[in-house]
Amino acid sequence: MAKKATPSQSKKPAPKARVTKALKPAAKKIKTKPWTHAEVVEAFTRFRKANPEPKGELEHLNPYTLLVAVALSAQATDVGVNKATRHLFPVADTPEKMVALGEEKLRDYIKTIGLYRTKAKNVIALSEQLIERHHSQVPRSREALEALPGVGRKTANVVLNIAFGEPTIAVDTHLFRVGNRTGLAPGKTPLEVELGLEKIIPAEFKRHAHHWLILHGRYTCVARKPRCEVCIINDLCRWPEKTV
Ligand code: SF4
Repeated sequence: MAKKATPSQSKKPAPKARVTKALKPAAKKIKTKPWTHAEVVEAFTRFRKANPEPKGELEHLNPYTLLVAVALSAQATDVGVNKATRHLFPVADTPEKMVALGEEKLRDYIKTIGLYRTKAKNVIALSEQLIERHHSQVPRSREALEALPGVGRKTANVVLNIAFGEPTIAVDTHLFRVGNRTGLAPGKTPLEVELGLEKIIPAEFKRHAHHWLILHGRYTCVARKPRCEVCIINDLCRWPEKTV
């Protein structure tokens, strides 16, 4: 359709369009300057100083209840999972007790958590497998963990880190955002971010790195309105839209 233009409009639109196009590629380039090793060390030194022994926020009594809590936490908040497991774990803190409880009663305990039907089915199935294949113990191997129903890479990483002290980095939604936004480890998938972080974080910080970054994303570098003014790495962060 032909556009009508007044005499005054016909003089201005062309330059405006050219300016917009010229700015776009420049804006995209700003955010990708990689962090230097010294900057990474500086950031994690600050995280460590602020919180020397960071802890996960999912309540659990042993490696088994940790595994169950993490499996229940997919697409749910830790607070919501804790509310349910505070009643569940006192009656079912081993695979045997969970299987004895049964899927139907388990559903009642966890019905406030999203996807609870599928999660109940998985928790019963993984408990049965732990009894049958692992002497009722949580295995300390990524392959064995990921072979359990409802257990993916992130859950395996959390369990390996918290229950067994392995230096794994579990990338959840917070860590995915922080890795990309700060420019620490940009990636299109959680795995890309995880591998990027693995590569750049020095060994001395790896054990706690995932907690520091998750807590940073949960309380400071929040999704909608990051609190850049109180962020302890705001001078190092590469995000072009940071507010300081
Ligand atoms: S400066 Fe802002 S955007 Fe960057 S890490 Fe800190 S809170 Fe997040």
